[in-house]
Amino acid sequence: MDYLVETIILGVDSIIFITCIRNYYKKKNAMAMIQGAPYLNINKDLKEIVLTHPEQKLSYVSIRGTVKPLGKPIISNNNTDVEGVVQLLRIKEHVIQRSTTGFWNDSERVIQEVHNIMPFSLENKGIEIEIMDPLAAEILDMDVISDVFHPSVPSVMDHIWGFFAGIRQRGIQSTEKMLRKGTMITGIGELVYSKDGNVLQLQPPSSGAPFYLTNMQVTSLIKKLENSKKNYRWLCLLFGVVGIVIGGIMVRKYLKHRSRALQDAEIKRQLEESRRERRKKTRTTDFSDNQICVVCKTNPIEIILLPCGHVCLCEDCSVDIQDSCPVCRTVIGKKSVAYVV
Ligand SMILES: [Zn+2]
Ligand SMILES: [Zn+2]
Repeated sequence: MDYLVETIILGVDSIIFITCIRNYYKKKNAMAMIQGAPYLNINKDLKEIVLTHPEQKLSYVSIRGTVKPLGKPIISNNNTDVEGVVQLLRIKEHVIQRSTTGFWNDSERVIQEVHNIMPFSLENKGIEIEIMDPLAAEILDMDVISDVFHPSVPSVMDHIWGFFAGIRQRGIQSTEKMLRKGTMITGIGELVYSKDGNVLQLQPPSSGAPFYLTNMQVTSLIKKLENSKKNYRWLCLLFGVVGIVIGGIMVRKYLKHRSRALQDAEIKRQLEESRRERRKKTRTTDFSDNQICVVCKTNPIEIILLPCGHVCLCEDCSVDIQDSCPVCRTVIGKKSVAYVV
């Protein structure tokens, strides 16, 4: 229990630290992979390029083109003029919640999230590349079409209930996002031929490398990852230092406890020593052979062991014998001074 608070803080700190390290390396690897991915113009030569590669596949490339729906596009729920290929509808509840520390904090939770997808391609000068599985993208940039917050109007009963339940609703936020038709986006992923061998497709890489569909240029994306990597580096440093400090405090506390325990043991030993000395001076030398301590065979018997009732030890030896009577092996329940006359 002595180290409970420190252990909890150190545990939480370690989890955050490991997460930051993991994210740092994730960003670093992603940057290296994107930098190594060739940028290919979407044109009629692209098919030939893919064909010359083994398995008719380019494992990691970046391309840029305009979003073109393959079929009827999705119409926005909030603005009928907007047409797109990926739609996100999300409803979030905003609440004020009493935390375990007793403070009221703002928090939110997603009540409903729906994605609608329409097959689409990236197009440049009449050449198209079909985009597969867009929701698997690490970054999928979409435009916010509508973002409305409806504040709740609580009654007096709601206030009272909220106070006791520890949770009060602030309102509902509904958001609509869309990847619009005609948006210029960069796709980074694996470029393959479709099964019938007629259509080029960009899909999430089978190597596990991140898939991107972003309206940023490759250089901007690298810059964004670089910034994010830097932030994670600072966080690693911060939580690393916190961990070291907490570890240091624990070590200091342990050493302090240990030194106090050693001091206490030393004081006890000195006290016992002085008691022995005092007993030695006051002890009678006039006693018969059957009144001699069975352990040291020097001092007279002075202690009775209970419950067996044997009077067989001097006080000095009785300090070291805690478990059982040296004569009959009965477990010692109590020791008392015996007056032998
Ligand atoms: Zn003795
Ligand atoms: Zn006994």
